[in-house]
Amino acid sequence: MAKSKDPQFTMRDPRTAYPQPPFPKQPQDAPGTIAKMDPAPDHGEDSYVGSGRLKGRKALITGGDSGIGRAVAIAYAREGARVCVNYLEAEEEDAQSLKSLIEGEGGEITLMPGDLMDQAFCEGLVSKAADAMDGLDILVINAGKQVRQDDVQDISAEQFDQTMKTNVYAMFWMARAALRLMPPGSAIITTTSIQGFSPSPALLDYATTKFAIRGFTEALAQTAIEQGIRVNGIAPGPFWTPLQPSGGQSQEKVHEFGSSTPMKRPGQPAEIAPAYVYLASGESSYVAGEILGLTGGKPIS
Ligand code: NAD
Ligand code: MG
Repeated sequence: MAKSKDPQFTMRDPRTAYPQPPFPKQPQDAPGTIAKMDPAPDHGEDSYVGSGRLKGRKALITGGDSGIGRAVAIAYAREGARVCVNYLEAEEEDAQSLKSLIEGEGGEITLMPGDLMDQAFCEGLVSKAADAMDGLDILVINAGKQVRQDDVQDISAEQFDQTMKTNVYAMFWMARAALRLMPPGSAIITTTSIQGFSPSPALLDYATTKFAIRGFTEALAQTAIEQGIRVNGIAPGPFWTPLQPSGGQSQEKVHEFGSSTPMKRPGQPAEIAPAYVYLASGESSYVAGEILGLTGGKPIS
């Protein structure tokens, strides 16, 4: 059987390529860390092999310390891009281990911690990333907040506001700022979810933002292309990241995470990074306004 250390393009049986539930219950506080996840997630550290697909490119990735964003940062760096990574200050440990990994193999990474709920920070982040990399031509909007509540009455106004700010407002602030300085050929990639198609009742506020991200992506793509900039989105199904055990799901759901997909397991971040590479690279030059689903076989529409 192919192992997770084999190159990402190795032929393998997708059903058994990675851990399957049941998983141990493993509560941790938000925003969560990969250090506390059991089994350890795979971000492609030992498997992603680059082939120059993003040589010379300059990418800003939000939520890049852990999970999907971390796998994207590793893949982009190995494809030859310089990367700037944003995350919350509480996530410094995951960010530092990413920096050591990328720099240790000759890649270029700049860490830019800070809270995306703040408009001035979001706009400053885009311009500081462009300054640090001498330009910006890829923006991966990936940071997200997800807090499960079984009853709508338990969703506080504060939670609703924070989820909207993190998932929707920050996307608008950053994309608008990036469009002012990105050259033709650039790419903006948003991160929606299967929750943006089939909402779970316990993820009401989160699912609402994921529908909004779809709409934003499809609408913006039509005008950004007038500047030669492609805007696309990714819709993940269940992926094994700290978002879930840190309050994104109940521990019962974490225990059986991914079991409702036809593949009967969650995806690993390493399995979604290649889609972000595709949408950023010139290979996808005729793709705009697309939402690419990676759901373990579960239909998204
Ligand atoms: P993750 O916890 O590893 O990453 C989310 C990141 O969001 C955190 O690392 C954190 O740095 C960032 N973040 C949250 N609030 C922030 C704030 N106020 N300011 C700055 N950064 C903030 O989890 P992940 O699953 O890799 O999440 C990445 C994206 O994928 C999210 O948009 C999430 O909604 C989406 N997604 C995940 C799944 C899944 O099953 N894991 C499914 C569908 C969509
Ligand atoms: Mg994190």
